[in-house]
Amino acid sequence: MAGIAIIGAQWGDEGKGKITHLLSGLADMVVRFGGGPNAGHTVMHRGKTFKFHQIPSGILYPHVRAVMGNGMVVDPDELWREMEMLRRAGVELRRLTVSGNVHLIFPYHRLLDRSIEDLSGERAIGTTGRGIGPAYTDKAARRGVRVQDLLLPEPELTQRLQHALRFANTLLVHLLKSEPVALDAMLERARLWRERLAPFIGDAFAAVHRALQEGQTVLFEGAQGALLDLDHGTYPFVTSSHPTVGGVLAGAGVGPDALSRVIGVVKAFQTRVGSGPMPTEVRGELAERLRGSGANPWDEFGTTTGRPRRVGWLDGVALRYSVQLNGLTELAVTKLDVLTGLERVAVAVAYELDGVRLETFPAQQAGLDRCRPVYEYLPGWNEDITGARRLEDLPAAARDYLRFIEELAGVPVTIVSVGPATEQTILCAEYQGA
Ligand code: GDP
Repeated sequence: MAGIAIIGAQWGDEGKGKITHLLSGLADMVVRFGGGPNAGHTVMHRGKTFKFHQIPSGILYPHVRAVMGNGMVVDPDELWREMEMLRRAGVELRRLTVSGNVHLIFPYHRLLDRSIEDLSGERAIGTTGRGIGPAYTDKAARRGVRVQDLLLPEPELTQRLQHALRFANTLLVHLLKSEPVALDAMLERARLWRERLAPFIGDAFAAVHRALQEGQTVLFEGAQGALLDLDHGTYPFVTSSHPTVGGVLAGAGVGPDALSRVIGVVKAFQTRVGSGPMPTEVRGELAERLRGSGANPWDEFGTTTGRPRRVGWLDGVALRYSVQLNGLTELAVTKLDVLTGLERVAVAVAYELDGVRLETFPAQQAGLDRCRPVYEYLPGWNEDITGARRLEDLPAAARDYLRFIEELAGVPVTIVSVGPATEQTILCAEYQGA
């Protein structure tokens, strides 16, 4: 079996899109296993930039089949926009399968998302406002409406929607002082979605297992990052799903033996969107330098929301945690080029909590809030590295930085990204291809 999981090892936005795209060239199938349109993967393919939110980016390769697995929640209006973008670019969509078990995001989920954030005031999570949390809430409460329900006879679909709306409208009207959502409008939307999506709805589980049994290479494309995991992330500032390797198993319906490699994508520094603890966050001039001005597409502003991201030095404690949490077998380090020109670079090797040195991620949220990073400083480099294609092309200081990360994480760095384009990549000796 040749299943490869690609997991964001930090708080998301690590550059998973580029790494998935790179490996997709060698894969037969790419599977999204969780999350929804809160993901935003920017991919440069043959000189064009594509932004993916829900469809696996591997679809850009004509030989790759793309699967949206049962762990996802999907907004069909957004999905349609993405399909239209791909059609305009001449991409053949017949290779896309949407699992019937995917849960639907209705407009009332978006309304609930925003209203709940407003109501939460200071305790707002800083969600993308795309209805993902409320859709997963409905799923867990077992009143969600799934993609396969669109294919039901209309009276049955109506009953399911009525049931879901009873709860949504109670919340909207009585708690959030908003207008109720009309059943007819939602039914009309569902009819449109049925018409558009029916050709793509399929048995994702069977498709993935068939590919694995045939020895094909299947990539499991992560969204968000491990530190946003509902169970193991920095709760409550997390996403509503499992962007960890556990999410691959649950969200695609495969066993652990399906995975031969688990690649953690890690940015050469740290970023975070929205609220929540971030021990290595920096402010001021250094933050502006790491974030960029916004002039480049890769500067640290959200793909989905446009919000400036919080930035800081690489958090080695969190990285070690991520390695354990996901059984990472290797790392893909991205955006190394962004550090060029800094006199020195820092990495947090431990935290200090109430005068005590901590080598591991604290179990208590309150502890993490008070953790101060213990940094080790390494020399920076000034040479432009965006043209480097082999490790030997990098200045010694950049190589030392990578070696430092490997030792800290305890797993090899097999891929190094030095720019947004696919070819701006160094495949290290340990890299085994897909
Ligand atoms: P994802 O959600 O994990 O795929 O990350 P995003 O797409 O939000 O952010 C990654 C951004 O950085 C995109 O604009 C990529 O094109 C860009 N990018 C990826 N790798 C590199 C790199 O090594 N260097 C630079 N400068 N940009 C990169």
